[in-house]
Amino acid sequence: MAVSDHDLIQAWKQVLTLSKLEPGQIVTVLTSTSTHPQTLSTALVAVGLMGATANRLDLPPVNGEKALSRDSLAFLGTTPLTGNRAAIAALKESDLVLDLMTLLFSPEQHEILAAGTKILLAVEPPEVLVRMVPTLDDKARVAQAAQRLDGAREMHVTSAAGTDLRCPLGEFPVIQEYGFVDAPGRWDHWPSGFVLTWPNERQTEGILVIDRGDILLPMKRYVQGPIRVRVTQGFVTAIDGGLDAELLSEYMASFNDPEAYAMSHIGWGLQPRAQWTTLAMYDREATIGMDARAFEGNFLFSFGPNNEAGGSRTTACHIDIPLRRCTVAIDGEPVVRDGKVLDGFVYGSADRSGE
Ligand code: FE
Repeated sequence: MAVSDHDLIQAWKQVLTLSKLEPGQIVTVLTSTSTHPQTLSTALVAVGLMGATANRLDLPPVNGEKALSRDSLAFLGTTPLTGNRAAIAALKESDLVLDLMTLLFSPEQHEILAAGTKILLAVEPPEVLVRMVPTLDDKARVAQAAQRLDGAREMHVTSAAGTDLRCPLGEFPVIQEYGFVDAPGRWDHWPSGFVLTWPNERQTEGILVIDRGDILLPMKRYVQGPIRVRVTQGFVTAIDGGLDAELLSEYMASFNDPEAYAMSHIGWGLQPRAQWTTLAMYDREATIGMDARAFEGNFLFSFGPNNEAGGSRTTACHIDIPLRRCTVAIDGEPVVRDGKVLDGFVYGSADRSGE
């Protein structure tokens, strides 16, 4: 269903206010060929209404000939900023970058953030943005989960379907995604609502069972039959099952890169306005699947890079897989049981208090 310009402008104003945009600040809107025109036009209006200056920087797409899909999160590598000194300089001089292009994890993005510039990615369709416009509650809930994860030594994930995975923790930071950028140098993604970290290098051991109804991204496909993935010393060593297992296995093999098989981020979904069902209704090219990544109580894990968290692994392959009905325990204490988040979070508390 389409949304009105008015509703999307209001949503932008809420995100920009939460992101502490001040009159006189400079916002650069990063666009490319796939940028949604309504998202762009309403962003420019909202920035203007808040008394800030809006620039637009349009860059050509890259990697289209290498990627096996049109999904902007599926293929990591060079970005339109690679070697583009003028564009990088403009972004570093901005207070806020609205990324309507999908810049993704790259040395250039780190450089821009290190200059204190905030970056907010927003590429889901307008109605998804409006449905999941972030709130202070979203931040409070994710922050609370991050506290549970901070300093933890192990995440243990189990499920009735057969998942039994142990991930030693401590080498990598905990990352909070709540949909707005309220501190200098912060990156976030609207919409989101989850907490994540990375397991220690080469230490994850066990079995992941991707069960019927779990989702493969970037395939944006509900798995029809279980896929059994064995992880040994932090790397996928076997993928067994039917057609879905073959699709996953052959897709990963197509990158011809051993690093693609590394365990990547792990965490759980905390966004009640994200729905497991939406991918059944959307054209696969109309969305990047943030509902699937953020729905409340999922166990979201990934194979591939860790450079986003300060590690050295870069691989073009990036696969995110949200599982339902898992139990996630941190140092022996469940934070999610059978797909239900156990935080007892009460909505309204953070939004009423104003922080
Ligand atoms: Fe990911």
